[in-house]
Amino acid sequence: MRYYSTNNNTPEVSLKEAVVKGLAADSGLFMPERIVQFQPSFFKYIQNLNFQEIAFEVAKNFFGDDIDENHLKEIVYDTLQFDCPVVKVTESIYSLELFHGPTLAFKDVGARYMARLLNYFLNDREKQVNVLVATSGDTGSAVANGFLGVDGIHVFVLYPKGKVSKIQESQFTTLGKNITALEIEGTFDDCQRLVKTAFLDDELNNKLILTSANSINVARFLPQAFYYFNAYARLKEQGVLENKELVFSVPSGNLGNITAGLFAREMGLPVVRFIASNNANNMVFEYLQTGKYQSRSSVETLANAMDVGAPSNFARILDLYNHSHKTISEIITGSWYPDEKIREILKRVYTENNYLCDPHGACGYEALAENLRENQIGVFLETAHPAKFTETVESIVGKGNVPMPDKLAAFMKGEKKSIQLNNEYYNFRNCLMQEVI
Ligand SMILES: *Cc1c(COP(=O)(O)O)cnc(C)c1O
Repeated sequence: MRYYSTNNNTPEVSLKEAVVKGLAADSGLFMPERIVQFQPSFFKYIQNLNFQEIAFEVAKNFFGDDIDENHLKEIVYDTLQFDCPVVKVTESIYSLELFHGPTLAFKDVGARYMARLLNYFLNDREKQVNVLVATSGDTGSAVANGFLGVDGIHVFVLYPKGKVSKIQESQFTTLGKNITALEIEGTFDDCQRLVKTAFLDDELNNKLILTSANSINVARFLPQAFYYFNAYARLKEQGVLENKELVFSVPSGNLGNITAGLFAREMGLPVVRFIASNNANNMVFEYLQTGKYQSRSSVETLANAMDVGAPSNFARILDLYNHSHKTISEIITGSWYPDEKIREILKRVYTENNYLCDPHGACGYEALAENLRENQIGVFLETAHPAKFTETVESIVGKGNVPMPDKLAAFMKGEKKSIQLNNEYYNFRNCLMQEVI
């Protein structure tokens, strides 16, 4: 499979090149040249397959040309060492729980997959590869843990100082080994800009092999399609989908997760509509309403993993639907919630439905509660465990009501190590050179 750039200004590349480079030479995002559709029979019998089996079928469509079946199977099965169950919240609303992995957030899926794929491609190489990842919270922990101890790969996590929760921070600043945390005085957008600038810095790239593990990397975002198929299969298995349409509501920041869902739909998954649920960073909502897209500086909210002012995967959505606002707004609708509303939703779902959402999942839930029609079943993606945001969630549902999973408590016990930097590219560049050599 070849991969082209959304900017169409550079030749197509192989999967290996797309994964190692991350971003295309013309600053576009890589897209697979084609999307293979499943036969209808696949969906007829999909409920007979388990999560790993389904994921392997999906993976073959994208990666089957480039990786032999045995290795691909190993990568997929090893990635999915945890379940992504669908849990009933109301008669028509289900939670797709994506927080059962090592760092308790959905990014574990893409990060673990990418680490294994990169390792597969780099097997015979001697040089060290440096993964640069900007994070607004959960990406850093998922990538750091996905790559921890993988030979030949050094990970640099850039995060905005004081803007991620203590728990999130502990998941990438306490690991040591091949993981270096860079604490940037600035916003998430600054972190993302530093990473993008480094990729376009020819001189630096001649000295170091750099790659991205942000959701722009095809090895991170495409595997996220796996759990949309599995959610469909599990609901079908329970007989929930008979004479019903399926709607997915996706708490969105950089739009990687929802884009993977859109790819699943293009592969034939019967989804009638997606909802992009936002916090106060609602540029996507505005685009869907008006057809005009205006990026902005991000603002801080309770759902901080969605505090993104210029969502990178938006370029993929435009490309997928030939820049047609008409098509895009038929398939995707938007919803957004300010912080006060997020608090109210979280509390209501907890008291009325006995289900504890995290602040991101709460946005996903509400978009369904407000918009679902009678003949529809809604699934919201519960993108992180509520204990990742203990302070916020306890301030809403009361102290002692947010159980702390053992995995998370273990991170909190580690010692924090980070390198502090301001948001100037020059300093970041120097730091990279020093750390690597
Ligand atoms: C990253 C993240 C999001 C946003 O996902 P995108 O793929 O960037 O749209 C939502 N919720 C949580 C908990 C996250 O970590």
